[in-house]
Amino acid sequence: MASISREQIVENLVKLLDEEKVVTDEQVLKDSSVDRFRRYEEIHGFYTQPLPAAVVYAGSKEDVASILKFASEHSINVVPRTGDSATEGGLETAVEHSIVLDGSGMNEIISIDPYNMLATCQCGAPLQDLEDRLREQGYTTGHSPQSKPLAQLGGLVATRSIGQFSTLYGGIEDMVVGLEAVFPNGEITKIKNVPRRAAGPDIRHVIIGNEGALCYITEVTVKIYKYSPENNYLLGYTLDNMKTGFEILREVMVNGYRPSVARLYDEEDGSQHFSHFAEDKCVLILMAEGPKPLAEATGKAMEAIVEKYAECEKVDHRLIQVWFDNLNWDVSKVAEEREEIFATKNISNTTEIAATWDKIYDIYKVCVERIRTEIPDITLIGGHSSHSYLNGTNMYFVYFYNVVDCSPEEEISKYHLPIKRIIVEETIKAGGSMCHHHGVGKHRTPWIKDEYGSSYYILKTLKEAFDPEGIMNKGTIFPGE
Ligand SMILES: Cc1cc2nc3c(=O)[nH]c(=O)nc-3n(C[C@H](O)[C@H](O)[C@H](O)COP(=O)(O)OP(=O)(O)OC[C@H]3O[C@@H](n4cnc5c(N)ncnc54)[C@H](O)[C@@H]3O)c2cc1C
Repeated sequence: MASISREQIVENLVKLLDEEKVVTDEQVLKDSSVDRFRRYEEIHGFYTQPLPAAVVYAGSKEDVASILKFASEHSINVVPRTGDSATEGGLETAVEHSIVLDGSGMNEIISIDPYNMLATCQCGAPLQDLEDRLREQGYTTGHSPQSKPLAQLGGLVATRSIGQFSTLYGGIEDMVVGLEAVFPNGEITKIKNVPRRAAGPDIRHVIIGNEGALCYITEVTVKIYKYSPENNYLLGYTLDNMKTGFEILREVMVNGYRPSVARLYDEEDGSQHFSHFAEDKCVLILMAEGPKPLAEATGKAMEAIVEKYAECEKVDHRLIQVWFDNLNWDVSKVAEEREEIFATKNISNTTEIAATWDKIYDIYKVCVERIRTEIPDITLIGGHSSHSYLNGTNMYFVYFYNVVDCSPEEEISKYHLPIKRIIVEETIKAGGSMCHHHGVGKHRTPWIKDEYGSSYYILKTLKEAFDPEGIMNKGTIFPGE
């Protein structure tokens, strides 16, 4: 693939940037060849992906431009990275002598503009830092993924991420106002900040969700909102089955209510969080927020909807609040989980999909049943819906399994991929989307043509136009040769 040797790549990188920005330490390279998808191998000291030639720490958009131009000229694969919390193999260095281009040092919060309700950050700004700064001033981005303590603005935009309050604030695609990105030929492009535009197609969406396979995001401007948690109207219920829960979520959404949180857990997934009050029960959580009159009206209307369903029993909202306050994952929780996996050989993974209201329950049911009967050593299979829309909702499948009679490298082929295959294939067959918010990464790429159907023509033409040398994150979204 690369037209020059590994040594020449490193020599040139050092000439292009300062020496300390180019790292070739073996352990750093090993850690940078994978992401969370391969953590079972990594925990056991196995690294099965080709090691990158170097990890390069960009300090500016000009650094990014010079590295991408150099990589294009010599056909070198580049894997963009910011917070390093990817779950689907998006950070795997799929080919020899890749460059991992890390933007975590570009971490400035450039401006907070409460008059126009905008915040602008470099790609490596941690969302947690931005959110903390905003909340001190009475504002919020409204973006609250579970990975908030880990993820950074570039990666959050690159994966079309979504947070716990999405039903009100939307996903990141609804929050981005303008942004800056560098393309593989070194072109630095900036999309300005305006409240709306109708000057042709919305080209922000070429960049949002590109997973580092088309361009490198260097700066992002997001909307900000007034933050008034004192008005939150939190509701929790137990119920007997998911079908009722989906019906309630649908009724809330199609009647025009906009809760910030709308979550429905099945018994198995719920048992991890709510066993102290909901044994063998599904759990429904709704929250309204915003200005007090609006939050109260929305909260009361949702209460009235749920009350019509006799099987729903209200629970003390403080029990839900405790769970909610401990939902996010920071570095220490990740480290704890790794130790537990090593000790127990029991690992959990997730796959998230979306579908319209008429399809979601059937997809949920068939996937859970198939995984339970077809996959060995399962210790938990369940899931939750956490993001609802006028037209449908998502399903976030959660599965735990014991890794039995196989080497660390075989964990993926024996368990993780066969489970993902069931979920992805059943979802696409039913007409849903195989990917709701974690990105395609490397491991859902085999189904990308099935996902897009005839519109794959549009997607592939973007790749051919913007990345003709195919240097951007090989194997991610776009199948390799
Ligand atoms: C415990 C845990 C909980 C999570 N919870 C959520 C959740 O609630 N919601 C959610 O949406 N996701 C969640 N995720 C997934 C992940 O955190 C998000 O997808 C996040 O957006 C990734 O951001 P990052 O900065 O860590 O990006 P990285 O992990 O560094 O990269 C992610 C992808 O984006 C590309 N990329 C990174 N930076 C750039 C850039 N500057 N330009 C172009 N491409 C780039 C990478 O090549 C890669 O393909 C979770 C992950 C973990 C580990």
